[in-house]
Amino acid sequence: MSTVSTIEWTNATWNFLLGCDKVSPGCAGCYAVKDVLRMAGNPNPKVSGANRGLAYRQDNGVLNWTGVVRLLPERLAVPFEWAVPKKVFVNSLSDLFHGDVPVEFIRRAFAVMRATPWHTYQALTKRAARLAVLSPDLDWPGNLWMGVSVESQPYAYRVDHLRGTGARVKFLSVEPLLGPVDLDLSGIDRVITGGESGPRARPFDPAWALAARDRCEAHGAKFFHKQNGGRNKKASGRLLDGRTYDEMPETRAVPVAPARERRRLATELVPEVPAGRVPLPLAG
Ligand code: SF4
Repeated sequence: MSTVSTIEWTNATWNFLLGCDKVSPGCAGCYAVKDVLRMAGNPNPKVSGANRGLAYRQDNGVLNWTGVVRLLPERLAVPFEWAVPKKVFVNSLSDLFHGDVPVEFIRRAFAVMRATPWHTYQALTKRAARLAVLSPDLDWPGNLWMGVSVESQPYAYRVDHLRGTGARVKFLSVEPLLGPVDLDLSGIDRVITGGESGPRARPFDPAWALAARDRCEAHGAKFFHKQNGGRNKKASGRLLDGRTYDEMPETRAVPVAPARERRRLATELVPEVPAGRVPLPLAG
């Protein structure tokens, strides 16, 4: 197995969970709650049915979660359908380590990741304490990059929880960056920074991201600056100190298994999908 620093990536999301709860100030502008509420009104009953009952608009106009977290086990088979290596964001509309996600379900998702080593997965949580508690009982896939969100200094403790896990690659999402942070990056492979965007965007000071960049340089961690944010994120762009930062850890180059083998693995690991349709149309 070799590693490469460049690959033609096709990005994808893998949402086998829907729904969440707001847990800290970084959740105030949660985009997932907006997406789920929109999809609950989708004319396709399959889409609306999966998303209904998870989010609502409060009397003050702010969107919030109902607190229901929905498990969609049949979607665990989705990565077997992709015939090219992808960089997969795991659960963009929930939190894998939410307290209502059974550990057995997390283990099943990890088993799918281990069975598809040609993909690289990125999972992000704000439930760092549960991540730390469950970590010793999990068989960590080598192709999973595990991250925690740290929006401001009071949440820097999440980095300590992440550091103690068995994840091979560990990263921080320092986004939306809401204030100065002083982070211990020992054992951390990558840091992503970004200001908040949208009509209710809170202030962002580039000096906060520059401090994280300097800390990355000192520790040999990769640094990625996503955006400066603000009400008009296009106008504010993503230049920091006059340049862009797009560093990421190296990825493993693993050949994709033939369709027949992927179908066999999907049937074995995800019995919820009817055998005749496992997976949905396969290419390659
Ligand atoms: S943890 Fe993530 S998905 Fe959940 S409410 Fe916060 S920002 Fe939204």
